[in-house]
Amino acid sequence: MKVLNFGSLNVDYVYDVPHFVCAGETIASSGRGIYSGGKGLNQSVAAARAGLPVYHAGSVGPDGGILVDTLRQNGVNTDFIKLQDAPSGHTVIQVDPNGQNCIIVFGGTNRMIGKDHIDGVFGGCACGDILLLQNEVNNGAYIIQKAHETGMTVMLNPSPFDEEIRNLPLDLVDYFVLNEIEGAGIAGTEDPEKILETIFSRYPSAQILLTLGMLGSVYYDGNCVYRQAAFPVEAVDTTGAGDTFLGYFTYGIVKGLEPQEILRLASRASAITVTRKGAAGSIPNLEEVLRETF
Ligand code: ATP
Repeated sequence: MKVLNFGSLNVDYVYDVPHFVCAGETIASSGRGIYSGGKGLNQSVAAARAGLPVYHAGSVGPDGGILVDTLRQNGVNTDFIKLQDAPSGHTVIQVDPNGQNCIIVFGGTNRMIGKDHIDGVFGGCACGDILLLQNEVNNGAYIIQKAHETGMTVMLNPSPFDEEIRNLPLDLVDYFVLNEIEGAGIAGTEDPEKILETIFSRYPSAQILLTLGMLGSVYYDGNCVYRQAAFPVEAVDTTGAGDTFLGYFTYGIVKGLEPQEILRLASRASAITVTRKGAAGSIPNLEEVLRETF
């Protein structure tokens, strides 16, 4: 089984600042890092490090070489990443001395995915049995429709949540993977049980995975509800926790593992991620996850 992730690719420009810049103010940054990011890229890296064959489809500009390199270094196939004459998606991130951040995201080429590109991806290959999609690329509705027509399993992570999500053909989604904010956005309630109930009542053939940060995760597989506590670790940076979870959850589904085993594996993987700084770079591989004893 192969995974096709039609996902975002962002260059993250991270600046260390004494405090977040205020209106009219100019401040000096004491350090700068440039990293590969975007929910799409992180999830491709997570699924590949778990051991799945992953194809990443998306779009970058001339400044996106670092993104393609990161995917390739992780064994992800990049044949369906289109080079466009426009800036890649990127973020400008300020990090203060307490580790808090504030982020500007520019969609760039992530928001320039054309229907011809999508047709080429779904028509020109047998590159996936399961589609991963987030909410950072345009034409999401068309991507879901094409995947469904091709007979692929559709896994949607509606992140970041916005009202556009409601315009997607959600009845074609096989797996919803959500955190509390996205769950509340779709279901209109913050109560985790009610989120599951509401989504199930609207989309009865879908399975639902809800992650709850330090409170763990809940998975409804169409028959039963499974719960998993988060592993107690000293978290230094929770960026990428959800993406790691999704990558390992996908691995578990593809490999046909038992639901509780899937949750345990994905929770262990994301617990490792939060003990390290950064996103894609902090995602563990399967060997490391299996070695971990907590
Ligand atoms: P992000 O957007 O930062 O990638 P998210 O909001 O999508 O994250 P969360 O629900 O915060 O996803 O986290 C996903 C999973 O990661 C949780 O279900 C849990 O298993 C694990 N996790 C998150 N935070 C912690 C933590 N502090 N300690 C241990 N495990 C954690």
